[in-house]
Amino acid sequence: MEVVAEGVDGKLIISVASGKGGTGKTTVASNLALSVGYCQFLDYDVEAPNSNFFLKPEIKHVQKVTIKHPYFLTETGADFSACADFCHYNAIAALKDEVIFFPELCHGCGGCKLVGPKGTVREKDVVVGEIRKGPAKPNIDFSMGDLKPGSMRTTSVQNALDKLITKDGLVIIDSPPGTSCAMVFAVKDCDYCILVTEPTPYGLNDLELSVGVLEKLNKPFGVIINRDGIGDNKVEEYCNKNYIQILAKIPNDREIAKYYSRGDSLIDYDSSWKKKFENILKGIEKELQT
Ligand code: SF4
Repeated sequence: MEVVAEGVDGKLIISVASGKGGTGKTTVASNLALSVGYCQFLDYDVEAPNSNFFLKPEIKHVQKVTIKHPYFLTETGADFSACADFCHYNAIAALKDEVIFFPELCHGCGGCKLVGPKGTVREKDVVVGEIRKGPAKPNIDFSMGDLKPGSMRTTSVQNALDKLITKDGLVIIDSPPGTSCAMVFAVKDCDYCILVTEPTPYGLNDLELSVGVLEKLNKPFGVIINRDGIGDNKVEEYCNKNYIQILAKIPNDREIAKYYSRGDSLIDYDSSWKKKFENILKGIEKELQT
């Protein structure tokens, strides 16, 4: 069954996020994509992308992501103190005869070139990661970002993914865990966010933090409880008390874990989950239309 989703402006962006890593966020995002079968899928968890493990795309296109780093023509004898004063990220120390540049702090904003002595600040491209893109079965347009080890330019790679988002249809974004800038970036344009959590005190604590971010961003959201059966029922109580919809509960099951560890999906394990994920999508569409 093919479900074609349409959001308010012709596309529907669903971000799948979680307050902490290891809660099953990627499992939910990839199973939603596999169940619907027809969508664009983007892995924004660029520091640790692993949705390819479940979706098994055929990567056909690899694109380097670069930012501009400055370099300083110190042999000109120019004074670069204006560059150091300008840099909000303290990436430059201008000494009498030399400039010390801290590349890991540079955001590539280009400001030091603008304010520095004319013609003495140049720029070069520096690779901070790459985008990999290709089709996955059944009909998924897959893209993932992969941050270069040691690089801190997470949002630069996410920004490159942003540019690939199609103009219509269903878009599923696998968000980074937590509530950092990288998570905010991955949910900022979504129409709806699915929060994945576990029924434990840690799960509840991280869920509350994620809910706080989404409420500030004014994003509609619902919760999927993964590994239901471990811990306690405080997550459920919290959701009920705060009128947060619980979209599904995925049981804590050793067999499911075995499937995950082999890169197999929940719907491979139990095909009834396909219908459940399709119904989750239909419910979201209905909620957004009211
Ligand atoms: S490009 Fe921007 S962030 Fe990088 S050193 Fe220059 S002013 Fe600082």
